[in-house]
Amino acid sequence: MAKSLLSTMTIGGRSLPGDERFEVIDPATGEAFANAPICHRSDLEEAIGSAQKAFKHWATSENLRRNALLSCAERIGEIEEQLAMTITREQGKPLAEARSEVRYAQSVLEEYAKMPLPGSVLGQNERSRTVLIHKPFGVVGLITPWNFPIGTAVVKLAPALLAGNCVILKPSPYAPLSPLLLGKALRKTLPAGVLNTVSGGDELGSLISRHPAIRKLSVTGSVSTGQCVLKDSAEELKSVTLELGGNDPAILLPDAPVGSIASSLLDAAWRNAGQVCSAIKRVYVHETKQRELIQALCKEAIRFKVGNGLDASTRIGPLTTHDQQRKAQHLSSLVESSCGTLLCEKLPPLDGGYFFPPSIATGLPQDHPLVQEEQFSPILPIVAYQTLDQAIEWSNETNFGLSASIWTSNPKLGYDIATQLECGRVGINGHRRADISAPFGGVKHSGLGRELGEWGLLGMCESQVINVFS
Ligand code: NAD
Repeated sequence: MAKSLLSTMTIGGRSLPGDERFEVIDPATGEAFANAPICHRSDLEEAIGSAQKAFKHWATSENLRRNALLSCAERIGEIEEQLAMTITREQGKPLAEARSEVRYAQSVLEEYAKMPLPGSVLGQNERSRTVLIHKPFGVVGLITPWNFPIGTAVVKLAPALLAGNCVILKPSPYAPLSPLLLGKALRKTLPAGVLNTVSGGDELGSLISRHPAIRKLSVTGSVSTGQCVLKDSAEELKSVTLELGGNDPAILLPDAPVGSIASSLLDAAWRNAGQVCSAIKRVYVHETKQRELIQALCKEAIRFKVGNGLDASTRIGPLTTHDQQRKAQHLSSLVESSCGTLLCEKLPPLDGGYFFPPSIATGLPQDHPLVQEEQFSPILPIVAYQTLDQAIEWSNETNFGLSASIWTSNPKLGYDIATQLECGRVGINGHRRADISAPFGGVKHSGLGRELGEWGLLGMCESQVINVFS
């Protein structure tokens, strides 16, 4: 293990250990278990220079790029277990979830490898022809969070590369090892300079956002980070895609079969210990069904065993950072001080680590911080409503607008409510479907632009119209 922990950046196809390094913590123990290089401004300049150089050839051969995407998918398959183990060690999620994140990344690359590049003839007559083409930006900056270090990186990387861009990838300082490992694994698969992986703190993200040679930024992270990136990139008027936080509501209509959906609700709320942008983060239940729902959820909650993600029986690993654990503790203390009730699973004895017991919070008003904020932890607030209009209004009331779900025996009514919700995606009788071909993104403070499918590819291109006059 020790050898594989010597992570290095990939710059211009070469390995760069950096002359300074920062510690990476295992959230299951709270102890440093590895370190990663700090990318200095001069290293970043070198990475950007190598990307600019590689771009000249990379942008010219679509076939080369399609084949390279398939080779990347294959290479990821070869190191699936190593990547998954690294994700679990640095991020905390159960190994089974880490493996499926890696497989998801592979399928995203395979999907993009066969996606046609956008372009069409918009109009034609005897005097002229109007053609729409799409061109790469050149060098693009991809800034990613810690909750899905490989999944988020590849969702940006695959369309960026297919479009013909060269990439500077900066992962979160809390989970840099798996993206650095990805960069290392692809050194021989991609031409030098096409993918550069650089690691460091938030200030490195800011350097990338401000750098004039980077024309496109795609950032996944918190709302405040998105706002900083927009400000930092304003001077250069860059194209920016932002995938930010969420506070997804699940609305249970009075006819929802609460007993049979409780398990799906908790799966969608507590995957990755609740640290998912599009997790269910608040449940609105009709007042007549609240009691039955809470009983059903408490029965199901027993399945969510807390422990080290490396233990095969673990369903909920530690929270990834100490700050996340403190935030969860703070929000849960507010439940008790505001006369709500917190129904918790007991934590087993665990040494250190940022663990938090999966909990269901009841008796909270709509304006409670646990309902209004993104908790990013396994505490699920249940709020009772009286009328459907009230549930819709409350769902739309926060600044977030990523996704939502409606649970009902009447899908037609569910569809009608879906159209009234202010968010990028709505599930009816299910919260989330990992659909690579559908656009993903949020409205309001949840983001700008869309990823995945052809929308993800369009986001990595500039359009150009060519008028041919005869
Ligand atoms: P974060 O915003 O703290 O960090 C995300 C990345 O941005 C990191 O690489 C970080 O170093 C970098 N960064 C921070 N400040 C920056 C700045 N001023 N300029 C440039 N880069 C900067 O987010 P996090 O804590 O790593 O991740 C959790 C957040 O991400 C949650 O809010 C979650 O909802 C959101 N998220 C959203 C999606 C989505 O698709 N909408 C997906 C996953 C996570």
